[in-house]
Amino acid sequence: EASINRIAAGEVVERPASAVKELVENALDAGARRVDVTIADGGKTLIRVADDGCGIAGADLPLALSRHATSKIDGSDLLNIHTFGFRGEALPSLGAVGRLTITSRMAGQDAAQIAVSGGQIGAVRPAALNSGTVVELRDLFHATPARLKFLRTDRAEGQAIADVVKRLAMAEPFVAFTLRDVSGGGEGRMVFRADAQSGDLFDALHGRLSGVLGTEFADNSIRIEAERDGLHLSGFAALPTYSRGAAVAQFLFVNGRPVRDKLLIGALRAAYFDFLSRDRHPVAALFVDCDPTLVDVNVHPAKSEVRFRDPGTVRGLIVGALRAALAGSGH
Ligand code: ADP
Ligand code: MG
Repeated sequence: EASINRIAAGEVVERPASAVKELVENALDAGARRVDVTIADGGKTLIRVADDGCGIAGADLPLALSRHATSKIDGSDLLNIHTFGFRGEALPSLGAVGRLTITSRMAGQDAAQIAVSGGQIGAVRPAALNSGTVVELRDLFHATPARLKFLRTDRAEGQAIADVVKRLAMAEPFVAFTLRDVSGGGEGRMVFRADAQSGDLFDALHGRLSGVLGTEFADNSIRIEAERDGLHLSGFAALPTYSRGAAVAQFLFVNGRPVRDKLLIGALRAAYFDFLSRDRHPVAALFVDCDPTLVDVNVHPAKSEVRFRDPGTVRGLIVGALRAALAGSGH
């Protein structure tokens, strides 16, 4: 119970994009090499995430749906978090706000399926699936029209979903991703597609960033790599000439998780201060990696904010590395 109390309580599912984030993170935690996301009506009527990961044993399906059941942490080790998920909250929360079906097959076992609607968990049934896991969430917030009303248009919710999938795709260049919109029925429309990259991490990242942000970003950015006091910084930062009029293209990751962190964004701005006019925003995809004990990812239940043990070092690392790279690039 102590570990549960230490976990910030809060809503996991605010909108379709937060459901997609939880499901794709689960797929990545399961070691998936490919993740296929299908949505309809901005995710309001359908979200389906299929992966080729390790699968869930039929006997464990009810457990996966019970609150605070997670296979990823033993409770004594909350500060030492390597996987995306650690609270065991996502699936129960999704089962409470929509019609959720999980079909899964663990290697060497038969496939099984479980459904939950309005928090009522059904029986485990035999199913047909070659491998991995398919989680389907239909009619999000159908039982709570007040929350449904607060969602934005299908188009806006769909864009938020694409943003989530793209950020996770940047963090995992060796994994193949697709995002398909089947609103109109049939095969639907491919919104986003990223093939699995190969080679070393920088090659893979460069290839993935070209795919997600465009070859122009990849061609106009400098490779960044630096280290200080156990903090490792890597990624690509665009030349000042490739800046934007809005701060929409700053992609920051801590230990492989996409974050929106004021400290990191502030450091990025500070690094470009001498190179950019005030109304321009830098474009960058930067990864900070460190021992999990040096950063607290439990600040917010949506896990997009983090707190570093030593913020000054993180800031200094980013500002120093980027300034040096930008100065060296001759701009
Ligand atoms: P958490 O990710 O915090 O552990 P979740 O509620 O998201 O909690 O998932 C509960 C459990 O269900 C996970 O710990 C994992 O064992 C299992 N699980 C969920 N999604 C998948 C998946 N796509 N593949 C394999 N196992 C999964
Ligand atoms: Mg999870």
